This record gives sequence, C-alpha cells and structure tokens, in this order.
Amino acid sequence: MKFGFHVSIAGGFENVIQRARHLDCETVQIFTGSNKQWKRTPLDPDRAASFRKLRMKASLDPLIVHLFYLPNLATPDEELLERSRQAFSEELERSSMLGAEFLVFHPGAFKDSSLDQGIRRVADSLNQAISSAKANNVRILIENTSGGGTRLGGSFSQLARIIDGVEKKDYMGICLDTAHAFQAGYPLHTAKGLEDTLEEIDQLIGLDKLLLLHLNDSKTPLGSHNDRHWHIGEGEIGIDAFRRIINHPKLKHLPAIMETPSMPDADNRNMTTVKRLREED
Ligand SMILES: [Zn+2]
Ligand SMILES: [Zn+2]
Repeated sequence: MKFGFHVSIAGGFENVIQRARHLDCETVQIFTGSNKQWKRTPLDPDRAASFRKLRMKASLDPLIVHLFYLPNLATPDEELLERSRQAFSEELERSSMLGAEFLVFHPGAFKDSSLDQGIRRVADSLNQAISSAKANNVRILIENTSGGGTRLGGSFSQLARIIDGVEKKDYMGICLDTAHAFQAGYPLHTAKGLEDTLEEIDQLIGLDKLLLLHLNDSKTPLGSHNDRHWHIGEGEIGIDAFRRIINHPKLKHLPAIMETPSMPDADNRNMTTVKRLREED
C-alpha cells in the first residue's frame, strides 16, 4: 500500500511537491483551488506541464484531485445543479491538465426530492461530464460518505446504483473512506466486519472498481452518521483494524490517502504509524 496525505495547494501547485516530500508521501491528494469558493483561476498550461513533470520526478503516484465541497450533483435545485455540473466538468478538465489519475467526489444530497431522483441526477451529471470532456485520462471515483438524512453515499448499494446509471463505466470507480464507512454503520473495526464489507463491495460494485482508500480513523462511533476524522489507530476504529486494512490481500495494492486532522506533529505521527503497520505484515 502506498501512503499519502491530502496536501494544501496554498502558494501554488509547486508547493504541493515540497510539502508531500516533507511528509514522506508516496501519493498525494489536492484540491485544485479553494474548497469553499466556486471561483477558479484558469490553470496556466505551462505551469500545469511543469507541475506534471515535478510530480513524476518526485514519484508521487497516483495524484488525486478531490472535488471541492460546494457542488451537489444530486440537488433538486436546478440552478445549483447546473452550477455543480459546470464546476464538475471544469474540475475534470483541471485534473486532466495537472496529470491526475483520479478525481474523487461525494455524491451529494437529494434534499426535498427522492432517493431515486437524486441517484438519477448524479448519474446524468456524470454522463454529461464524461461525454463533454475533451481528452480524458482521469478516472472518476465516487466516495462513500457517512450518510444520514438525504445525503447519498452512506451505502455501497447507492454507489452501485449511481454507477449503473453511467453509460461509460470504464471511467468510473469508487473510493472507500474508512471513517465514513464506519460512521455509516459498516463495522470495519472487527475482522469479520471488514470481510463482510469487502464482500458487499465485491458483490454490488466489484472490487476491481475500488481504486482508492481514504485512511481515516473516526472520532465518532459506529453508525453515528457524524463525519469526524481522527488520527490513525487513536479513534473508534482502532489500531488492530488499521493493521488488518493496510495488509489485507484485497486492499494492499491500493493507494491510501490520510485526511486526518492536521495538528502539530500529527501528520508525521500518522505517517509513521501506517508505515509501521505495513512493515508488520
Ligand atoms: Zn472526501
Ligand atoms: Zn474521504
């Protein structure tokens, strides 16, 4: 398993490489702009090209772009849906320019419409984005979420139904966030719970579509639907579970990004922990 962090792009994309190296990353995840603003400064093609080279030289592989938090591809609000679809297409283009292998996103919330309609809107949005993309080498990964309320992605059957609605399935995959799955009610903290969850993913989606892990412990209990990430082995999921996840024969080939709270010394501690668990195999 390769390990990395979600790293800030503050000060420009070039800084990502240094930050990632400093944290001993083997893979890295970024936003391509502010995660709380719609506005994007167009990428300069020359700078994007030099970033691609630097990233390859630094052996950060894969590079993952996380969609920012404002778009909601499941919303019944037509204006917001249109804006979200434009933003998604733009992010797909930016991901491609930066040479990213994956664009990962949360499927959104269906609000005052129905689950079926929400799933349909996400699938239609993906169909639009894929068919209008210029050149596309970027795989789109739907991330499971902690669910609750009208938020999609709390079950793997919902992710499966979204992918079922996408015409060009080769462009699609999923990202398993360990904290979100646990918070949604999947008991990843036990050996049996992990096996059952992987079995469910395989049955509904196929493990060949599982292309990325988000390795996060959970501050909140099983089934809480409360999305609070915590340091590896120090939360409700626990160190034994992360040893099993990191060394699992069906998962160990995957890249894994930590989105743990960035406190002083915490990043180094988390990286040391996961690398130690990998060596204990
Ligand atoms: Zn996410
Ligand atoms: Zn995540």
